Amino acid sequence: MGCTASDLVAALRAAAATIREHRVELIQLDRAIGDGDHGENMDRGFTAVIAALDANPPDTPASALKLVATTLISKVGGAAGPLYGTAFLRASTAVKDRAELTPADLAEALTAALGGVVARGKAEPGDKTMVDALDPAVQAAKGDTVAELLAAAADAAAAGADTTVPLVARKGRASYLGERSAGHMDPGARSTSLLLRAFAEVAAR
Ligand code: ADP
Ligand code: MG
Ligand code: MG
Repeated sequence: MGCTASDLVAALRAAAATIREHRVELIQLDRAIGDGDHGENMDRGFTAVIAALDANPPDTPASALKLVATTLISKVGGAAGPLYGTAFLRASTAVKDRAELTPADLAEALTAALGGVVARGKAEPGDKTMVDALDPAVQAAKGDTVAELLAAAADAAAAGADTTVPLVARKGRASYLGERSAGHMDPGARSTSLLLRAFAEVAAR
């Protein structure tokens, strides 16, 4: 029922596969309001994450999360690498040395991840960034099981990503477009939603 290091590795493998599958979609979203590299950045990052996990199988959830963080920070340029890297780093610290994460631990990890993104990027909800997916996910992350909690978080993240479509970007590269950023989903909000959906699907099996 809890989430062990190997559960987390399975979830990260699913996340990497989802990012690979949606690479072109993320590129197209970023082409509309950014520089068109988000799909490539995320795919490169998560491919490197899986290689790192294979090379150094983690024995605690915290060490898995930390390996994700350091890999994303070192392999992914642009805004998203350091933002996601900080999110995973804060999540790693939040879960301490626990061998198996409870739903409450996961909720804490997600809260810490959001705190990291906000500390690093200074975006508020409504700025048309990944925060618009992650913030509602954190608020919805409740449940008696890890699977329930992650399903609720993933649903909220997907709805949150949808809300970015009409918004005008106030942070990141898309903000350079001003009003012309409206009418497109934020790529980082979409990738956050994809990651949480992949985690939820693995937890449900
Ligand atoms: P870059 O914009 O440097 O090319 P990416 O394309 O990989 O990097 O990532 C873009 C995504 O990063 C955006 O869609 C947005 O969700 C997110 N982002 C950019 N700046 C911020 C910020 N200050 N706070 C939160 N998220 C941000
Ligand atoms: Mg980009
Ligand atoms: Mg870029």
